[in-house]
Amino acid sequence: MADGLNPEGGICAAIIAAGGSGSRMGAAVPKQFLELGGLPLLLYSLRAFAAVAEIGRLVICTRADYLEHTRKLAARHGFTDILVVVGGDSRQESVAHGLAALAASGDEIALVAVHDGARPLVTPDLIHRCLAAARRHGAAIAAIEVRDTLKRAEEESGSDSPRIAATIDRAGLWQAQTPQVARFSLLQEALQRATADDFTGTDEAALLERQGQPVALVRGDAANLKVTHPDDLLLAEALLIRNTPPKDTPRIGHGYDVHRLVAERRLILGGVEIPHPLGLLGHSDADVLTHALCDALLGALGAGDIGRHFPDHDPSYRGISSLKLLATVMEQVTTAGYRLGNADLTVIAQEPKLAPHLPEMREKLAAVCRVSPEQINLKATTTEGLGFAGRREGIAAHAVVLLM
Ligand code: MG
Repeated sequence: MADGLNPEGGICAAIIAAGGSGSRMGAAVPKQFLELGGLPLLLYSLRAFAAVAEIGRLVICTRADYLEHTRKLAARHGFTDILVVVGGDSRQESVAHGLAALAASGDEIALVAVHDGARPLVTPDLIHRCLAAARRHGAAIAAIEVRDTLKRAEEESGSDSPRIAATIDRAGLWQAQTPQVARFSLLQEALQRATADDFTGTDEAALLERQGQPVALVRGDAANLKVTHPDDLLLAEALLIRNTPPKDTPRIGHGYDVHRLVAERRLILGGVEIPHPLGLLGHSDADVLTHALCDALLGALGAGDIGRHFPDHDPSYRGISSLKLLATVMEQVTTAGYRLGNADLTVIAQEPKLAPHLPEMREKLAAVCRVSPEQINLKATTTEGLGFAGRREGIAAHAVVLLM
């Protein structure tokens, strides 16, 4: 974030509401924390706002039980000077808490943008245009013109489907999005008035309109969708991939690992437990294949190796599923702006026969890497009895990956 200086004096602040429940998503976590392309939804909004030079202060309103989680998430991604406060039961209440935190921060705030943390595809350009319009008009929101024909429905008794009562003229109709930006004092007044009147609006513009405040419409983007249903997450992921151009320079990485075969250990390869009298020895679950893949990914990022990231003297990694290590490595890949193009993996083992297990291993690795199984090629070979693998003393794995 830059200093957020504004020619009229005072800084621009943003409140990101991340307090909603995941009820309609059928998920246990609030939807703002669901994963999109390997990262929590909320992080995308944070990054977009942090990339806008005019924004000098960011506030996240979240559920009380997610306060620490949110602080850690923000800090882990380099956002250290963000205010994280407890939201309320409604968006209006959350915004009121956010405004109170801003008022108490000592910052002189000219404009405040409110954004729904479940809209991950907001762009710095749209935020900037909303701020510019609010500076001119006092208040402005992102919105898109209604494209579909609108019907008013009425319930018909005895029928399981409602029927059309009327067709609404869509001329002049817009769908409100966020960000919604207003002069700080205007939004404060509008909220205080709504609270006093016991009025609940579904967005900030509704509160400002009640005050007679003109609110400008800024042409938003259909891609700035609100993730409400599981389908929205799929759509958002597809748009995210479309919006992420391949890097100019793809990066290649190679990984190689060996683990010793011993009695009384489980044999885990590619996240799959394979019935065998011997298993691989190691601090984690000793999944040699997944380790080779992690090393290839870290190699492509120029980020060292698995031992550096998950040291074998750290008790928190004892017995851990290596798929969890892979998920953490993939988060680094995503954070660096890359995605996995393809991986080619080879396991070298004299026995057991691995062919029957390869499809399941491929599925598991692909799911963690968030690619389709076709992007992961998996091979198994023996060494015709030669060397340590041939003598059944250990299993080795090679991995080659391309990041784009
Ligand atoms: Mg290893």
